[in-house]
Amino acid sequence: RKKIAVMTSGGDSQGMAAVIRAVVRTGINMNCDVFCVQQGYNGLIEGGEYIRKTEWADVRGYLPRGGTPIRTARCKAFYERPGRLTAAKNMVINGIDAIIICGGDGSLTGADRFRAEWPSLLEELVSKGELTAQQIVPHKHLNIVGLVGSIDNDLSGTDATIGCYSALDRISTVISWVQDTADSHSRAFVIEVMGRHCGWLALMAGVASGADFIFIPEQPREDNWKEEMCSIVKKHRDEGKHQTIVVMAEGAQDRYGKKITTDMVKDLLSDPHGLDLDTRVTIVGHPQRGGKPVAHDRMLATLQGVEAVHAVLEATPETETCFIAINENKIVRKPLMAAVQATKEVAEVIKAQDFEKAVKLRDTEFAD
Ligand code: ATP
Repeated sequence: RKKIAVMTSGGDSQGMAAVIRAVVRTGINMNCDVFCVQQGYNGLIEGGEYIRKTEWADVRGYLPRGGTPIRTARCKAFYERPGRLTAAKNMVINGIDAIIICGGDGSLTGADRFRAEWPSLLEELVSKGELTAQQIVPHKHLNIVGLVGSIDNDLSGTDATIGCYSALDRISTVISWVQDTADSHSRAFVIEVMGRHCGWLALMAGVASGADFIFIPEQPREDNWKEEMCSIVKKHRDEGKHQTIVVMAEGAQDRYGKKITTDMVKDLLSDPHGLDLDTRVTIVGHPQRGGKPVAHDRMLATLQGVEAVHAVLEATPETETCFIAINENKIVRKPLMAAVQATKEVAEVIKAQDFEKAVKLRDTEFAD
């Protein structure tokens, strides 16, 4: 029987629990043993109780659940070879040679590195006498399949990441609450949402809420942004609007790469010599990551989890490592490292102020 590990790693997102359920139950349906690894790469290194064989009933109730019940972590030790060596030993001891990992680009990079090093890790374990040559024979190749769990929707090559629509829902809900009280008091609110390199959440939340003005890292503001924002807000007020909403991604910046802060925007809107609006700042913060996944994320997590198990079972030693994407409503397999490279490059070109290239890179299509 094939033995598959499933784990969540890096920052959590809604829908990770649904991923675990889909992988465990599809694996069982396809005659595999599925092991849940607790706390990301920490669990692979700790071994023992952290690597648990999981049964059908163990994941009951996971579909609508927020967070990741098998926990997640950032693991320093996995950046170093000795950490990965111990992880490899624990995998072989449990008879596992396939990992389905749900996380962001860092987690997927770590997994691909582990896969690339796998033969040499096993050789080292045998040469140190920690495993016997016989023990490693059935585990010559490590098979990795990635699933992208992230609220930011920041991975190139997929239209949506697992969790992004739930986070968007949380933000839109918060904004609608704020809009009620803003309207009662004729106030302005500056709303900060997550997204250092990727403005998808801010942009979509702004569109979904009828925001007056939106700041995203991919569209740095020109020198005249203050006049531009104030004239738009004034126009809306003159037209009879009683509330003002400005949505800002964490990575909001001007064209010199200087951060535009919520306080800068607040001071501008409340300037007694200007618009003189009673202005408050709301930082949405961690509620963006919490709560039950919306139907779209449950669907995405389930369809992609099923596809990930199929990808593991169909893989040969020659198969390129893939992640599961959604493109134009189709669940597809894509080369993992090409997407990770393009994602990293996006962050670099945004830093270097090449925004057109950033948008192109994010939309990059990779061969299936
Ligand atoms: P988020 O989107 O929340 O940042 P992420 O998966 O990108 O999620 P990271 O903190 O970058 O989060 O990575 C998670 C873990 O993956 C790290 O703590 C580390 O254990 C492992 N990892 C990341 N990059 C590497 C790497 N180059 N080599 C080995 N392990 C890595």
